[in-house]
Amino acid sequence: MERAVALVVAAGRGERFGGARPKQYETLAGRPLLHHGLAALVGHPAIAGVRAVIHPDDLALYQSAAEGLDLLDPVPGGANRQDSARLGLESLEELAPEHVLIHDGARPLLPAEVIDRVLRALDRVPGAVAALPVTDTLKREHDGLVAETVARQGLWRAQTPQGFHYPAILAAHRAAAGAELTDDAAVAEQAGLPVALVEGSPRNLKVTTPEDLARAETILTGGGGAQETRSASGFDVHRFGPGDHVTLCGVKIPHDRALLGHSDADVALHALTDALLGALGAGDIGLHFPPTDPRWRGADSAVFLRNASERVAARGGRIVNVDVTVICEAPKLAPHRAHMVARLAELLDLAPERVNVKATTTEGLGFTGRGEGIAAQASATLCLPRRG
Ligand code: MG
Repeated sequence: MERAVALVVAAGRGERFGGARPKQYETLAGRPLLHHGLAALVGHPAIAGVRAVIHPDDLALYQSAAEGLDLLDPVPGGANRQDSARLGLESLEELAPEHVLIHDGARPLLPAEVIDRVLRALDRVPGAVAALPVTDTLKREHDGLVAETVARQGLWRAQTPQGFHYPAILAAHRAAAGAELTDDAAVAEQAGLPVALVEGSPRNLKVTTPEDLARAETILTGGGGAQETRSASGFDVHRFGPGDHVTLCGVKIPHDRALLGHSDADVALHALTDALLGALGAGDIGLHFPPTDPRWRGADSAVFLRNASERVAARGGRIVNVDVTVICEAPKLAPHRAHMVARLAELLDLAPERVNVKATTTEGLGFTGRGEGIAAQASATLCLPRRG
């Protein structure tokens, strides 16, 4: 028998959020939102197994949210939250856990000490709910006017996880099937089970709107004020010489000439490397990779870009987005653009939506117009921990 397992209810459609996909799969600090709550529970030493209850249409989204986590197989949810929780509980019957924690998949910032408090309470009561006392003054409204002030003493805002003795909550859910109760504590109350209130956490917010998601992002990435945004640009030019291809953004593109340079002359990666180094306040590419150094003769410029991106990581930062503009009359870059974006995303370990590649000509004017070489400019935005 497992002592405690956790269910994460994530089958909702998140209609209030209004995104392209259910909110539990929106990106939070580079991962699907659901990943964070699952990871908090998987990483807790007192929890023997974690199972998500998902919408059957969301399997592919779930798989990316679950990546790298050791989870029990997900089970499909039902028509509403209460039904989804009941189906999840039914699925745990063969594990026969002593205790079960039920957590909302839209609460990504679950502190380990809240899990501890809920589990500890289950040693003395059959149910326990993480909650916060209401601190705002409460008003009841009627026709747009205050009808009365409601005494807030003794009022709490329920969060999750909500923990229960497993056989008791399973029986309570079976008895309540068909009702539309909004949390599992209400199901327990209906069955007459005593439910304790334990201290939740203000961090443990429920993501309901895009503003909530932005707040969670701020908390997760170090809290407002502790981070700063940095941006810089980079520029580079290489001249044409004899050859049969050019390399741009790490992609080999057939052409009747090649770019000359000490390395592979990837003018786009050089400009982007300089943008990253610029935003870090770390000089330029020539400082770190001098053209006089024979090690860089014919080098794959991916080495330079990766080095700059490792410097960002070493500072505890992350790349928010990058944008590259390649300036030339030929070769035509449109057919290669998707490949270039994919290669940059791979080199920088970024989502492709954070990478942009553009191409332009100079209308036949100047050295690029005369086909003497290719120029590239780039910009990069970083999020870095504030120093000093
Ligand atoms: Mg260069």
